[in-house]
Amino acid sequence: MKAILQYGPNDLRYEDIPYPKCEPGGMIMKVMAVGLCGSDIRNLTTDSLPGKYPHIWGHEHAGIIKEVGPEYKGEFKPGDRVIYWATRACGQCAECRAGNSNYCLNKNEYVMRQGGFAQYIPIPEVIVQRGGVVRLPDELGFEAYSVIEPMLSVNGCQQRLNVNFRDTVLICGAGPLGCLHAKVAKIRGAKRVIMTEISSARLEGVEKFGVDVKIDGSKTDQIEEVLKLTGGRGADKVIVANPSTISQQQSLKMCKPGGIISFFGGVAKGAMTEIDSNIIHYKGLTIMGQTGGDALAQDTAQDLVFSGRVNYKDFITCTMPLCKISEAIAICKAGKAIKIALHPWDDENGNEIKED
Ligand SMILES: [Zn+2]
Ligand SMILES: [Zn+2]
Repeated sequence: MKAILQYGPNDLRYEDIPYPKCEPGGMIMKVMAVGLCGSDIRNLTTDSLPGKYPHIWGHEHAGIIKEVGPEYKGEFKPGDRVIYWATRACGQCAECRAGNSNYCLNKNEYVMRQGGFAQYIPIPEVIVQRGGVVRLPDELGFEAYSVIEPMLSVNGCQQRLNVNFRDTVLICGAGPLGCLHAKVAKIRGAKRVIMTEISSARLEGVEKFGVDVKIDGSKTDQIEEVLKLTGGRGADKVIVANPSTISQQQSLKMCKPGGIISFFGGVAKGAMTEIDSNIIHYKGLTIMGQTGGDALAQDTAQDLVFSGRVNYKDFITCTMPLCKISEAIAICKAGKAIKIALHPWDDENGNEIKED
């Protein structure tokens, strides 16, 4: 089968590798679409796994069950259309029982397993048992999961912020996650969603995600603008959905006294954010971080897309053949796409590759 193997930073090769081995209680999924995530881009373009190459990334995968192991006893059979959550909490440890399943003590880390940038992916028995394979409704395309998966952490964040009808929510960053945040904030009833962004191209068309006011930080002083829009107070809740330390710094000045800020985006490894802690002190701010989400956030992400309340097609800029992943990365990095879904069964001209 074909796959994209990473051999080092930006060293991606489209190669033939052996068909994967199916665990007795596991499955093999034919990957029909796999999203190109911001974290994939970071991993593929940096020295993400020193000494552990080649590696196959990709975790936003959906497809068709190709085979189930001889000991599998569940409801699924070959031919079923499914999504595959690569991590799934155990549901039994102290953290899971306390409702913090994203910090599961028995978390099944997907990082060292084969990912979805391939024509087939093995699904381990443990993930099958934990309910990581979910039926995809017939009316939805395989690309739907490229939106569901990242929405997990968006929901996790907004659950903790308790975004609701009284809130003016400020979202810093108009990337795919920022746009998802806008959409989810509106569904949760936010009174007003303000979005700031320093790339004019990214701000184009964000209204369709529920953004009420957009501020182009390359043309105006975003702090001043946000204060003007909020009677000099700042937003009730601020979500920093970008990898910028400057944006984290600025967020303190754009949050109202007593407000909450989520540092949702990770910054480059080792980068330090200098913060005027007196702003936190005198304004009584709460600052929190976010990575992933709990089981409720996961179920909510599925529900919002499966029910059509979030139209996944609004977020998928285009689909591209898997072999053109480097091109897709360049498009995303230039801010010219919200989300790109890759198709492992399309050749470089977009024609279907026959399965043998
Ligand atoms: Zn992702
Ligand atoms: Zn657990």
